[in-house]
Amino acid sequence: MTKSDHKIGTVMAVQANFYQVRLDEGQTLLCTRPTRLKKIGQSVLVGDRIYVKSTEFERGAIASVTPRKTELQRPPMANADQILLVFALEEPTLDPVQLSRFLVKAESTNLKLLLGLNKADLISQEKQKEWKQKLKLWGYEPYFFSVENNQGIEEIKTALKNKITIFAGPSGVGKSSLTSLLIPQLNIRIGEVSGKLQKGRHTTRHVELFEIPQGGYIADSPGFNQPDFDCDSQNLINYFPEARQKLSQGQCKFNDCLHQEEPECIVKGTWERYEYYLKFLDEILAQEEKIAQTR
Ligand code: GDP
Ligand code: ZN
Repeated sequence: MTKSDHKIGTVMAVQANFYQVRLDEGQTLLCTRPTRLKKIGQSVLVGDRIYVKSTEFERGAIASVTPRKTELQRPPMANADQILLVFALEEPTLDPVQLSRFLVKAESTNLKLLLGLNKADLISQEKQKEWKQKLKLWGYEPYFFSVENNQGIEEIKTALKNKITIFAGPSGVGKSSLTSLLIPQLNIRIGEVSGKLQKGRHTTRHVELFEIPQGGYIADSPGFNQPDFDCDSQNLINYFPEARQKLSQGQCKFNDCLHQEEPECIVKGTWERYEYYLKFLDEILAQEEKIAQTR
Protein backbone atom coordinates (compact mmCIF):
# COMPACT_ATOMS: atom_id res chain seq x y z
CA MET A 1 0.00 0.00 0.00
CA THR A 2 1.47 3.37 -0.96
CA LYS A 3 1.18 6.55 1.04
CA SER A 4 -1.28 7.98 -1.46
CA ASP A 5 -3.77 5.32 -0.37
CA HIS A 6 -3.55 6.53 3.21
CA LYS A 7 -5.98 9.04 4.61
CA ILE A 8 -5.08 11.78 7.03
CA GLY A 9 -6.92 12.44 10.26
CA THR A 10 -6.70 13.59 13.88
CA VAL A 11 -6.65 11.36 16.98
CA MET A 12 -9.68 12.47 19.02
CA ALA A 13 -9.52 10.03 21.93
CA VAL A 14 -7.78 6.93 23.14
CA GLN A 15 -9.89 4.08 24.51
CA ALA A 16 -8.01 1.08 25.82
CA ASN A 17 -5.91 -0.01 22.84
CA PHE A 18 -7.99 1.81 20.26
CA TYR A 19 -7.60 5.25 18.81
CA GLN A 20 -10.65 7.18 17.74
CA VAL A 21 -9.61 9.02 14.58
CA ARG A 22 -11.53 11.68 12.72
CA LEU A 23 -10.54 11.70 9.07
CA ASP A 24 -10.30 15.10 7.39
CA GLU A 25 -12.86 13.85 4.88
CA GLY A 26 -15.36 13.43 7.72
CA GLN A 27 -15.56 9.80 8.76
CA THR A 28 -14.64 8.53 12.23
CA LEU A 29 -12.57 5.33 12.46
CA LEU A 30 -11.51 3.14 15.34
CA CYS A 31 -7.83 2.44 14.75
CA THR A 32 -5.11 0.21 16.10
CA ARG A 33 -1.42 0.96 16.49
CA PRO A 34 0.40 -1.79 14.59
CA THR A 35 3.31 -3.69 16.14
CA ARG A 36 5.60 -2.03 13.61
CA LEU A 37 5.01 1.37 15.26
CA LYS A 38 5.37 -0.07 18.75
CA LYS A 39 8.72 -1.58 17.79
CA ILE A 40 10.14 1.77 16.70
CA GLY A 41 8.78 3.37 19.88
CA GLN A 42 6.34 5.58 18.01
CA SER A 43 3.69 6.71 20.47
CA VAL A 44 0.28 7.95 19.41
CA LEU A 45 -1.28 10.78 21.37
CA VAL A 46 -4.60 12.58 21.31
CA GLY A 47 -4.12 15.50 18.93
CA ASP A 48 -1.73 13.64 16.66
CA ARG A 49 -2.13 14.08 12.93
CA ILE A 50 -1.82 10.63 11.49
CA TYR A 51 -2.05 8.69 8.26
CA VAL A 52 -4.32 5.68 8.45
CA LYS A 53 -4.96 2.77 6.25
CA SER A 54 -8.68 2.31 6.50
CA THR A 55 -10.15 -1.11 6.53
CA GLU A 56 -13.76 -2.17 6.53
CA PHE A 57 -16.47 -1.59 9.12
CA GLU A 58 -15.10 1.79 10.26
CA ARG A 59 -11.85 0.27 11.41
CA GLY A 60 -8.35 1.33 10.47
CA ALA A 61 -4.67 0.87 11.19
CA ILE A 62 -2.33 3.76 11.94
CA ALA A 63 0.34 3.94 9.23
CA SER A 64 2.40 6.90 10.44
CA VAL A 65 2.39 9.88 12.78
CA THR A 66 3.30 13.33 11.43
CA PRO A 67 5.82 15.49 13.36
CA ARG A 68 4.29 17.22 16.38
CA LYS A 69 4.09 21.00 16.82
CA THR A 70 3.87 20.62 20.59
CA GLU A 71 3.80 17.75 23.04
CA LEU A 72 2.56 17.62 26.63
CA GLN A 73 3.20 14.90 29.21
CA ARG A 74 0.33 15.80 31.50
CA PRO A 75 -2.20 15.58 29.99
CA PRO A 76 -0.60 13.38 27.33
CA MET A 77 -1.42 15.13 24.09
CA ALA A 78 0.07 16.41 20.86
CA ASN A 79 -0.31 19.62 18.88
CA ALA A 80 -2.19 21.67 21.46
CA ASP A 81 -1.90 25.35 20.48
CA GLN A 82 -3.13 27.02 23.62
CA ILE A 83 -4.86 26.82 26.96
CA LEU A 84 -8.04 28.68 27.78
CA LEU A 85 -8.10 29.04 31.53
CA VAL A 86 -11.68 29.66 32.60
CA PHE A 87 -12.67 31.22 35.90
CA ALA A 88 -15.91 32.80 37.05
CA LEU A 89 -16.03 36.37 38.34
CA GLU A 90 -18.81 35.40 40.77
CA GLU A 91 -20.51 32.18 41.90
CA PRO A 92 -17.89 31.19 42.95
CA THR A 93 -16.22 34.53 43.74
CA LEU A 94 -12.90 34.84 41.95
CA ASP A 95 -10.12 33.96 44.36
CA PRO A 96 -6.78 35.51 43.32
CA VAL A 97 -4.68 32.79 45.00
CA GLN A 98 -6.60 29.95 43.38
CA LEU A 99 -6.48 31.78 40.05
CA SER A 100 -2.71 32.17 40.42
CA ARG A 101 -2.30 28.44 41.09
CA PHE A 102 -4.02 27.61 37.83
CA LEU A 103 -2.12 30.35 35.99
CA VAL A 104 1.21 28.95 37.20
CA LYS A 105 0.21 25.46 36.18
CA ALA A 106 -0.92 26.64 32.74
CA GLU A 107 2.21 28.76 32.27
CA SER A 108 4.40 25.75 33.05
CA THR A 109 3.21 24.03 29.85
CA ASN A 110 4.78 26.87 27.84
CA LEU A 111 1.72 26.93 25.62
CA LYS A 112 0.03 30.19 24.74
CA LEU A 113 -2.28 31.11 27.60
CA LEU A 114 -5.69 32.74 27.28
CA LEU A 115 -7.59 33.77 30.38
CA GLY A 116 -11.39 33.84 30.21
CA LEU A 117 -13.51 35.25 33.02
CA ASN A 118 -17.08 34.00 32.80
CA LYS A 119 -20.34 35.10 34.42
CA ALA A 120 -19.73 38.74 33.54
CA ASP A 121 -23.50 39.11 33.84
CA LEU A 122 -23.16 38.79 37.63
CA ILE A 123 -20.81 41.70 38.31
CA SER A 124 -20.81 45.45 37.68
CA GLN A 125 -18.78 47.22 35.00
CA GLU A 126 -16.92 48.89 37.85
CA LYS A 127 -15.83 45.59 39.35
CA GLN A 128 -14.83 44.26 35.92
CA LYS A 129 -12.63 47.30 35.46
CA GLU A 130 -10.93 46.65 38.80
CA TRP A 131 -10.14 43.06 37.80
CA LYS A 132 -8.91 44.24 34.43
CA GLN A 133 -6.46 46.64 36.04
CA LYS A 134 -5.28 44.10 38.59
CA LEU A 135 -4.70 41.40 35.98
CA LYS A 136 -2.86 43.82 33.73
CA LEU A 137 -0.30 44.23 36.53
CA TRP A 138 0.03 40.45 36.65
CA GLY A 139 0.71 40.43 32.90
CA TYR A 140 -2.68 39.24 31.63
CA GLU A 141 -5.41 40.60 29.40
CA PRO A 142 -8.49 38.50 30.12
CA TYR A 143 -11.57 37.94 28.02
CA PHE A 144 -14.64 38.93 30.00
CA PHE A 145 -17.61 36.88 28.88
CA SER A 146 -20.93 35.40 29.86
CA VAL A 147 -22.44 32.18 28.60
CA GLU A 148 -25.68 33.42 30.19
CA ASN A 149 -26.15 36.56 28.06
CA ASN A 150 -23.65 35.89 25.25
CA GLN A 151 -21.44 38.90 25.90
CA GLY A 152 -17.85 38.44 24.76
CA ILE A 153 -18.60 35.09 23.10
CA GLU A 154 -17.66 36.26 19.59
CA GLU A 155 -14.17 37.19 20.82
CA ILE A 156 -13.77 33.74 22.37
CA LYS A 157 -14.91 32.07 19.13
CA THR A 158 -12.36 34.07 17.16
CA ALA A 159 -9.57 33.15 19.58
CA LEU A 160 -10.37 29.43 19.31
CA LYS A 161 -10.86 29.24 15.55
CA ASN A 162 -8.70 26.58 13.89
CA LYS A 163 -6.73 25.96 17.08
CA ILE A 164 -6.52 23.06 19.49
CA THR A 165 -7.39 24.64 22.83
CA ILE A 166 -7.21 22.95 26.21
CA PHE A 167 -10.00 24.07 28.53
CA ALA A 168 -8.84 24.32 32.12
CA GLY A 169 -10.21 25.71 35.35
CA PRO A 170 -11.94 24.65 38.55
CA SER A 171 -15.42 23.16 38.50
CA GLY A 172 -18.48 25.35 38.52
CA VAL A 173 -17.02 28.19 36.45
CA GLY A 174 -18.90 27.31 33.25
CA LYS A 175 -16.50 25.22 31.16
CA SER A 176 -19.21 22.73 30.17
CA SER A 177 -21.66 25.55 29.52
CA LEU A 178 -19.15 27.26 27.22
CA THR A 179 -18.36 23.99 25.48
CA SER A 180 -22.00 23.28 24.71
CA LEU A 181 -22.53 26.85 23.56
CA LEU A 182 -19.63 26.48 21.10
CA ILE A 183 -20.59 22.93 20.09
CA PRO A 184 -24.40 22.65 20.36
CA GLN A 185 -24.37 19.11 18.87
CA LEU A 186 -22.40 17.93 21.89
CA ASN A 187 -25.31 18.42 24.32
CA ILE A 188 -26.48 14.84 24.13
CA ARG A 189 -22.97 13.48 24.58
CA ILE A 190 -22.33 15.51 27.74
CA GLY A 191 -25.60 14.12 29.09
CA GLU A 192 -24.44 10.59 28.27
CA VAL A 193 -21.06 10.75 29.94
CA SER A 194 -22.30 12.65 32.96
CA GLY A 195 -23.93 9.48 34.25
CA LYS A 196 -22.10 6.23 34.67
CA LEU A 197 -18.81 7.25 33.11
CA GLN A 198 -18.28 10.56 34.84
CA LYS A 199 -16.55 9.18 37.89
CA GLY A 200 -14.08 7.28 35.76
CA ARG A 201 -13.50 10.26 33.52
CA HIS A 202 -12.68 12.59 36.34
CA THR A 203 -10.24 10.35 38.12
CA THR A 204 -8.13 9.75 35.03
CA ARG A 205 -5.98 12.06 33.00
CA HIS A 206 -7.59 11.06 29.73
CA VAL A 207 -7.93 13.75 27.14
CA GLU A 208 -10.60 13.99 24.51
CA LEU A 209 -10.98 16.39 21.58
CA PHE A 210 -14.28 17.92 20.53
CA GLU A 211 -14.61 19.49 17.11
CA ILE A 212 -15.82 23.10 16.93
CA PRO A 213 -18.18 23.58 13.94
CA GLN A 214 -16.34 26.76 12.81
CA GLY A 215 -12.98 24.95 12.87
CA GLY A 216 -10.65 23.89 15.64
CA TYR A 217 -10.93 21.60 18.64
CA ILE A 218 -11.58 21.87 22.36
CA ALA A 219 -9.49 19.51 24.45
CA ASP A 220 -11.17 18.43 27.62
CA SER A 221 -8.87 16.99 30.24
CA PRO A 222 -10.33 16.45 33.70
CA GLY A 223 -6.88 15.69 35.10
CA PHE A 224 -5.70 19.14 34.16
CA ASN A 225 -8.29 20.80 36.35
CA GLN A 226 -6.45 20.04 39.57
CA PRO A 227 -4.37 22.98 40.73
CA ASP A 228 -1.30 20.91 41.64
CA PHE A 229 2.02 22.35 40.53
CA ASP A 230 3.99 20.77 37.76
CA CYS A 231 7.28 22.60 38.12
CA ASP A 232 10.36 22.75 40.33
CA SER A 233 11.46 25.45 42.75
CA GLN A 234 14.01 26.92 40.34
CA ASN A 235 11.47 27.34 37.55
CA LEU A 236 8.55 28.68 39.52
CA ILE A 237 9.49 32.33 39.08
CA ASN A 238 9.29 32.00 35.28
CA TYR A 239 5.59 31.29 35.53
CA PHE A 240 4.84 34.74 36.93
CA PRO A 241 4.91 37.05 33.88
CA GLU A 242 5.41 40.18 35.98
CA ALA A 243 8.56 38.67 37.58
CA ARG A 244 9.73 37.23 34.28
CA GLN A 245 9.67 40.79 33.03
CA LYS A 246 12.07 41.88 35.80
CA LEU A 247 14.40 38.95 35.09
CA SER A 248 14.52 39.81 31.39
CA GLN A 249 15.98 43.17 32.35
CA GLY A 250 18.68 42.05 34.76
CA GLN A 251 20.12 39.30 36.95
CA CYS A 252 20.10 38.35 40.60
CA LYS A 253 23.51 38.07 42.27
CA PHE A 254 23.20 34.28 42.64
CA ASN A 255 22.46 32.04 39.68
CA ASP A 256 20.31 29.77 41.82
CA CYS A 257 18.51 32.62 43.58
CA LEU A 258 15.07 31.54 44.81
CA HIS A 259 14.17 35.18 45.43
CA GLN A 260 13.50 34.74 49.12
CA GLU A 261 16.04 36.33 51.48
CA GLU A 262 19.04 36.33 49.15
CA PRO A 263 21.02 39.57 48.84
CA GLU A 264 20.99 41.58 45.62
CA CYS A 265 17.87 39.87 44.31
CA ILE A 266 16.11 41.86 41.59
CA VAL A 267 12.81 39.99 41.88
CA LYS A 268 12.12 40.23 45.58
CA GLY A 269 9.95 43.15 46.39
CA THR A 270 6.81 45.04 45.96
CA TRP A 271 4.81 43.31 43.27
CA GLU A 272 1.35 42.22 44.33
CA ARG A 273 1.76 38.49 43.84
CA TYR A 274 5.19 38.22 45.48
CA GLU A 275 3.54 36.77 48.58
CA TYR A 276 1.79 34.13 46.42
CA TYR A 277 5.14 33.30 44.89
CA LEU A 278 6.67 32.72 48.34
CA LYS A 279 3.69 30.64 49.41
CA PHE A 280 3.82 28.42 46.30
CA LEU A 281 7.60 28.16 46.59
CA ASP A 282 7.28 26.86 50.15
CA GLU A 283 4.84 24.20 48.98
CA ILE A 284 7.11 23.11 46.13
CA LEU A 285 10.20 23.07 48.38
CA ALA A 286 8.33 20.88 50.89
CA GLN A 287 7.34 18.54 48.06
CA GLU A 288 10.92 18.36 46.81
CA GLU A 289 12.14 17.66 50.33
CA LYS A 290 9.69 14.79 50.65
CA ILE A 291 10.81 13.29 47.33
CA ALA A 292 14.48 13.64 48.32
CA GLN A 293 13.83 11.75 51.56
CA THR A 294 12.18 8.81 49.84
CA ARG A 295 15.14 8.37 47.46
P1 GDP B 1 -18.05 23.61 34.88
O1 GDP B 1 -18.02 22.79 36.13
O2 GDP B 1 -16.87 24.53 34.81
O3 GDP B 1 -18.18 22.80 33.64
O4 GDP B 1 -19.32 24.57 35.00
P2 GDP B 1 -20.79 24.41 34.37
O5 GDP B 1 -20.78 24.68 32.90
O6 GDP B 1 -21.36 23.10 34.82
O7 GDP B 1 -21.55 25.62 35.07
C1 GDP B 1 -21.73 25.72 36.47
C2 GDP B 1 -22.96 26.57 36.78
O8 GDP B 1 -22.75 27.91 36.36
C3 GDP B 1 -24.22 26.09 36.03
O9 GDP B 1 -25.31 26.19 36.92
C4 GDP B 1 -24.37 27.09 34.90
O10 GDP B 1 -25.70 27.25 34.50
C5 GDP B 1 -23.81 28.36 35.52
N1 GDP B 1 -23.28 29.31 34.51
C6 GDP B 1 -22.47 29.02 33.46
N2 GDP B 1 -22.18 30.14 32.77
C7 GDP B 1 -22.80 31.16 33.39
C8 GDP B 1 -22.86 32.58 33.15
O11 GDP B 1 -22.29 33.14 32.20
N3 GDP B 1 -23.58 33.32 34.03
C9 GDP B 1 -24.24 32.76 35.09
N4 GDP B 1 -24.93 33.58 35.88
N5 GDP B 1 -24.21 31.44 35.32
C10 GDP B 1 -23.51 30.64 34.50
ZN1 ZN C 1 16.46 36.69 43.07
